[in-house]
Amino acid sequence: MTTANPLLHTPARPLPKHVAIIGAGTIGPDIGYYLKSALPQMRLTLVDINQAAIDKALQRCQDYARKAVAKGKMSEAHAAAVVANISGTQDYAQLAGCDWVIEAATENMALKRRIFAQVESVVRPDALITSNTSSLPAARIFAELKHKGRATVTHFFAPAWRNPAVEVIAWEKTDPAVVAWLRWLFCVTGKVPLVTSDAVCFMLDRIFDNWCNEAALLLDHATAAEIDSVAAEFVHAGPFFVLNLARGNPIITETNTLQAEEEGAHYTPAPVFRSVDTWVTVPPGKKVDVAAKTKAAIRDRLLGILFSQSVDILDRGIGEATDLDLGCRTALGFKKGPLELMRDLGEPEAGRILQRLAAERPGMPWPKRPYAAYQDFWRHVLVDDVEGVKVITLRRPEAMNALHDELTDEVLSVIRKFESDPKVKGFVLTGYGTRAFCAGADIGRFPAMLGDAEAATQYARDCSRLLVHLDAMKKPVVAALNGMALGGGLELAMRCHGIVALKDAWMQLPEITLGIVPGIGAMVVPYRRWPQAAATFHGMLRRAEKLKAPQAHTLGVVDALADDLPGLIAAAVARVKALAGQPSPIARGPVPLAPLEQIDATAAGGQPLSKEILGILEKAVRDAAQAGTLDEALEIGYRAFGASALTAAAREGIGAFQEGRKPDFSRTA
Ligand code: NAD
Repeated sequence: MTTANPLLHTPARPLPKHVAIIGAGTIGPDIGYYLKSALPQMRLTLVDINQAAIDKALQRCQDYARKAVAKGKMSEAHAAAVVANISGTQDYAQLAGCDWVIEAATENMALKRRIFAQVESVVRPDALITSNTSSLPAARIFAELKHKGRATVTHFFAPAWRNPAVEVIAWEKTDPAVVAWLRWLFCVTGKVPLVTSDAVCFMLDRIFDNWCNEAALLLDHATAAEIDSVAAEFVHAGPFFVLNLARGNPIITETNTLQAEEEGAHYTPAPVFRSVDTWVTVPPGKKVDVAAKTKAAIRDRLLGILFSQSVDILDRGIGEATDLDLGCRTALGFKKGPLELMRDLGEPEAGRILQRLAAERPGMPWPKRPYAAYQDFWRHVLVDDVEGVKVITLRRPEAMNALHDELTDEVLSVIRKFESDPKVKGFVLTGYGTRAFCAGADIGRFPAMLGDAEAATQYARDCSRLLVHLDAMKKPVVAALNGMALGGGLELAMRCHGIVALKDAWMQLPEITLGIVPGIGAMVVPYRRWPQAAATFHGMLRRAEKLKAPQAHTLGVVDALADDLPGLIAAAVARVKALAGQPSPIARGPVPLAPLEQIDATAAGGQPLSKEILGILEKAVRDAAQAGTLDEALEIGYRAFGASALTAAAREGIGAFQEGRKPDFSRTA
């Protein structure tokens, strides 16, 4: 069964024990290092025809691990395991026992076919074979394989040890179980798999290569520095800066030639790529002035090519809309996905830009459907159906599934869409990947509200739309904590009608360390729902203490624990069924409150806290417990959040967060 969330099913194969990578050039060793960091017990063999490349690759893995330790990102022990069991060879016979061979050799059809014939002659018939080709369709490179079902393209993006995106190509001969396993494997090892069809250049290189090609064609009108300066509105690094990083023009000439041969001369690579390989441009964060008319022309063309490629990808079913936007953000460094840009500009402006592109670049794809058809998708959630229960997965991997207005509204719209459907028994909310259920809420518009209590209070009310809806629901919603649940993410879980968790999941309310209070329920709900755990919540709210899932289970906060993700979802679905017909478990009337003993204003981690914020928090907790209704109690929480926005502590805490430093509340006392 294909599920939108790759982790909902039990994998058909185990984790790989021995992986070989063919091609120890630019990207091969990076792919290997990513796999070894995620699965340190695995054996890795790097194969190349060039011994110097192998030696450099082995050294690179050592250097990466050393840097990771120096930066505190990896323990010495983990690093030692990562670099152990990596070997290099020129001998294909060494692939014999591999579970998975990943080819990352030079981009050339004949060469790749030769390599696969050689690989197939030594590996087991069930060993996976994948290619990291940027552009060559799987149907062609694997045309001569005997066992095609185990072969496909897995397309990584530079730098592959860190860049989370991987395209997984679902072509006609691949066994769907292979695609399902690859998605699962990538997801459990911290990547974001994006399934695409077997079109030339797949999905994201159609965007990236044509974006760069268009930038190069614009050199008739402007300099590389001017074009990068205009592009900076949309990307973290301009196209020429990125081309320089890749030391030249990474295969755009080849990939665009392929597109031109297959799809028309409008894709012909810019001739300048043949004569220039280093561009004089500005680094990210720096800009040169560009005359208004030139700027408008560059902007329109760059946006035009993005929109044209995007509608083509969707019209031809090359990839999904949500994956296209996510892939552009995570793999290619776009600030917003192209469909989101199109939406923000609106139909008339997007239409004008596409018209201009059609006039300047005849032949480029043109939308085949109305504008609205390209905007009709969920951007930040995946929705699956498990035994009549809708499993909603929060998917913002670049922000550990942190909430923002659009994500919260989307969850609400999924619930609204299905809650009156008699076939739907209820909902499960979980997070994408293995690290986080939800790392909190984006800081969003809050910094602009510092000093404005009314605006901050209203912001807290607005952010509560989904939570208030959950309180009144007739069908159960169960939170399935697949990892950390922090701040606003925990406040969301608390309002679900049940909570199940992986054994290693944990919870925390870190707001007080930022000089603010958790305003959307955390000062209210736990005391009305789990009075037996009041002392624990006092510590979580006032000292940002962590609560681990097993302890939460003992306290009755978590209903069930699970060992793995399929088990977690099964437990959540069972809980939904068990809760059918039961109202929200949050007490509506006033509740007694366990005493708030006086404490030092110091967080569990030792960080000094603001006494003023601690005072605001404790008063809100006391007042909310006494409030006659849940609505009144929640209102007390919103107002306390508003009051915190007036304090110097909030200014210091939020400022420190934005500047990436530790706050110093002694300055605000
Ligand atoms: P590269 O030229 O840097 O390295 C290719 C390596 O393959 C070389 O070390 C070469 O000696 C080796 N090689 C050639 N023939 C071989 C053979 N028969 N057996 C074993 N090794 C052989 O290329 P690269 O940039 O690392 O790209 C590799 C593949 O990955 C290409 O298909 C490319 O399109 C794709 N890709 C690269 C990137 C990137 O950022 N570099 C990104 C995505 C996809």
